[in-house]
Amino acid sequence: MSLPVFKLLRPRNIQEAVGHLARHRGDIMILAGGTDLLPSMRQKLFTPGHVMDIRGIEELHGIRVTPGLGVEIGAMTQLSAIEDSEFIRRNYRVLHEAVMTVASPILRNMGTLGGNICLDTRCVWYNQSLQFYTNIGDAHMRLDPNEMLTRVYLPESSAGWKGSYLKLRVRGSIDYPMAGVAVALKKKDGAASEMGRVAITAVNPAPLLVKGAEHALTGKQIDEHVATVVGELAARMSKPLTTSALTPEYRREMVKVFTKRAVLAAAKS
Ligand SMILES: Cc1cc2nc3c(=O)[nH]c(=O)nc-3n(C[C@H](O)[C@H](O)[C@H](O)COP(=O)(O)OP(=O)(O)OC[C@H]3O[C@@H](n4cnc5c(N)ncnc54)[C@H](O)[C@@H]3O)c2cc1C
Repeated sequence: MSLPVFKLLRPRNIQEAVGHLARHRGDIMILAGGTDLLPSMRQKLFTPGHVMDIRGIEELHGIRVTPGLGVEIGAMTQLSAIEDSEFIRRNYRVLHEAVMTVASPILRNMGTLGGNICLDTRCVWYNQSLQFYTNIGDAHMRLDPNEMLTRVYLPESSAGWKGSYLKLRVRGSIDYPMAGVAVALKKKDGAASEMGRVAITAVNPAPLLVKGAEHALTGKQIDEHVATVVGELAARMSKPLTTSALTPEYRREMVKVFTKRAVLAAAKS
């Protein structure tokens, strides 16, 4: 399938880029690694008149650590660069594990953090930060057509949490998840957990924090019983749709199993 006709734009800095977005509002799409956009354009799912390649904008690349504040990851940072970052592995373990399981090594070499977050199906979730949007409806939960993501900021206060991310997929080397579980625990060495959170993905229209998990994990010594309780809470919140690959019942059951495993792995990490 061939690509539709479009005009290619190559801005050299963010100012030029946002200028293009404003000028061609609604008729322009951003090209990052291209792993999703280009196949979608070949299938004529998107036919923008302008495609803006932002790979040449230096300030969008790389991982920058500011002691006392946190870390900034540029939108054009490849997923493989996050995977290879010793700093991210040591301090933001769940992010590191999640990135390592995205697609395949080739796709992680091409795909960027910005592209991953801004996939058409995901903006609604990532932009619904309560800090900015409360009860104002879907229209405000998306990137505006003349906005672009420049960097993701991880505050230092969220560094050092222990955690684990597990993903259910048919072919472990490449497939999208049929279920995903992320567990994050804040704990002092050998002590009970100070705080804990669990999120599930791919089994509801958007990722969800598991209700009751924080209460079940906070202040507890994590053992088999606690992990089983949290697994049941997670399974109760899972509402997977019917897919041809795996049945909803199996996926819900695996959410229970994976959550229990992830809680125990996080406690040991
Ligand atoms: C076989 C396969 C398996 C996959 N498995 C997984 C998986 O397990 N988990 C997972 O999370 N993902 C998975 N993916 C998705 C993959 O992670 C994305 O394709 C990739 O991250 C997109 O990044 P990109 O840089 O190539 O984005 P592009 O394809 O260039 O862009 C994607 C979208 O984001 C927009 N965009 C890009 N950058 C910006 C920006 N800075 N600001 C605003 N909008 C922007 C583009 O306009 C486009 O709409 C899979 C993909 C494939 C093909």
